[in-house]
Amino acid sequence: MPSSETLERDTTTATPPRDAGAEAPARHAHVAIVGSGFAGLGMAIRLKQGGIDDFVVLERADDVGGTWRDNTYPGCQCDVPSHLYSFSFAPNPRWSRTFSRQPEIQDYLRRCADEHGVGPHLRFGHEVTAAAWDEDAQLWRLETAGGPFTARMLVAAPGPLSEPSIPSIPGLERFEGAVFHSAQWDHDHDLDGEHVAVIGTGASAIQVVPAIQPRVGRMHVFQRTPSWIMPHADRPITRVERRVYRVFPTAQRVMRAGIYWARETFVLGFLHRRLMRLPERIARRHLRSQVPDPELRRKLTPDYAIGCKRILISNDFYPSLTRPNVEVVTEGVREVRPSSIVTSDGVEREVDTIIFGTGFHVTDMPIAHRVRGRNGRLLADAWRDAMEAHLGSTVAGFPNLFIVPGPNTGLGHNSMVFMIESQIAYVLDCLRVMGERGIGAVDVRPEVQAASNRELQRNMQGTVWLSGCASWYLDASGRNTTLWPGFTYPFRRRTRRFDPAEYRLRPAVAAPVATTS
Ligand SMILES: Cc1cc2nc3c(=O)[nH]c(=O)nc-3n(C[C@H](O)[C@H](O)[C@H](O)COP(=O)(O)OP(=O)(O)OC[C@H]3O[C@@H](n4cnc5c(N)ncnc54)[C@H](O)[C@@H]3O)c2cc1C
Repeated sequence: MPSSETLERDTTTATPPRDAGAEAPARHAHVAIVGSGFAGLGMAIRLKQGGIDDFVVLERADDVGGTWRDNTYPGCQCDVPSHLYSFSFAPNPRWSRTFSRQPEIQDYLRRCADEHGVGPHLRFGHEVTAAAWDEDAQLWRLETAGGPFTARMLVAAPGPLSEPSIPSIPGLERFEGAVFHSAQWDHDHDLDGEHVAVIGTGASAIQVVPAIQPRVGRMHVFQRTPSWIMPHADRPITRVERRVYRVFPTAQRVMRAGIYWARETFVLGFLHRRLMRLPERIARRHLRSQVPDPELRRKLTPDYAIGCKRILISNDFYPSLTRPNVEVVTEGVREVRPSSIVTSDGVEREVDTIIFGTGFHVTDMPIAHRVRGRNGRLLADAWRDAMEAHLGSTVAGFPNLFIVPGPNTGLGHNSMVFMIESQIAYVLDCLRVMGERGIGAVDVRPEVQAASNRELQRNMQGTVWLSGCASWYLDASGRNTTLWPGFTYPFRRRTRRFDPAEYRLRPAVAAPVATTS
């Protein structure tokens, strides 16, 4: 039982769960998870492994996989080696390539869900449209496309890169051809022989361009800022290697650890810019060796420090740009007309299809406009100045809410799955502490959140990410609210244990009996 020193006095009385205004009664689960990508699924699997069955996974789509379900564009591939870009508790000896392609990762996630018995907890077509904290009942009240739910704990895992961002371009709505974002690929649309505009040259676009270049009649690649691109070390994993991993799982664990530690060292360059000289030389040589035309090379040479924006890897993007049917356009897009695109220099190019490779809403997380904490405060309002959380997970005034992955947990050098698993361990330890001590609500102390973010932003100073380029890592005020500025193992260490002293604790009031089926 909680002691009176550790738990703040509960001055409210428990109220029975309300039905949040809908006709059907709200179904209840101890934990509600929003999203079924790596984060949501990982959370669900870990709960099951920990013997907690009273949870539900609310997913707006009709399948698991998140990023790897949605990004079906030609050429979609992970840029972290497969042995590391997978759950530590679900190694996959069957990976066919060192860097997996989208269909294989999607299959892996489906398999993980099946093999770990997550299926019965999944609710597809359940987009969470609103979540409000009920202080009296110590519950989250959720509105979803599939009806209302209540939950003691809310794990928001809606994805850091799951809401496609399309720039507003004058005239776009009048375009008569096909228009789609790389994350919403229109597979019914035949690009063969077409004049295609690809807008953007970020991580997705550099995979799309070489994949479709041989099929299209003409391609205009609209580039605002060139990316630094390194050679890709992708190769098939041989049958012998796969057999070794199957028979000796330790071999794969050793490989995973080796890749992890090798990639950890990469962060030094982001933190100490002079260490970026070697990667920059490699990237320049890569460009020189693949693009003989000096004029095209000039267009493709970045004028900002390597690492300031995401470093990309590709062996076929540059060669595809040298093909006769491809043009790299560096003038800004001024307007779209019914069958063409006009650039700032007045040149008009006829196109049949426009493909946006323009990234995602990252620093303006859409879920923040749907979550209301204590006193009805909207998360987006709490984040008006800047998105921030304690250990990337919890936000003062939003009890029992964990955002996975949350602010400042992104990486430029290692696998996001590592950060996600660290946060999952933090949630699990919080549940353990709450259960053991009879705690009903945990709310991070504002001063703790402020102190951890001061430290984080101090560590951010002097990094290459703040060296002056515009990137999706930065919010409108130029603050980096997306990346973890350092090695990832200290993050793992700090999220291993939930420290109740960092939180305001409230003793538990009775929760409704679970009825999520
Ligand atoms: C093309 C691409 C390539 C990438 N490559 C890498 C890589 O190589 N290495 C790396 O570390 N990271 C990479 N990432 C980042 C990647 O997003 C993360 O690694 C990881 O997949 C994130 O998992 P997640 O579960 O947090 O989010 P997601 O995979 O985006 O899953 C979020 C889920 O939440 C659901 N959802 C969202 N809002 C709601 C709502 N309101 N109600 C219900 N459901 C909702 C979505 O439908 C989705 O299923 C890549 C991202 C993209 C887009």
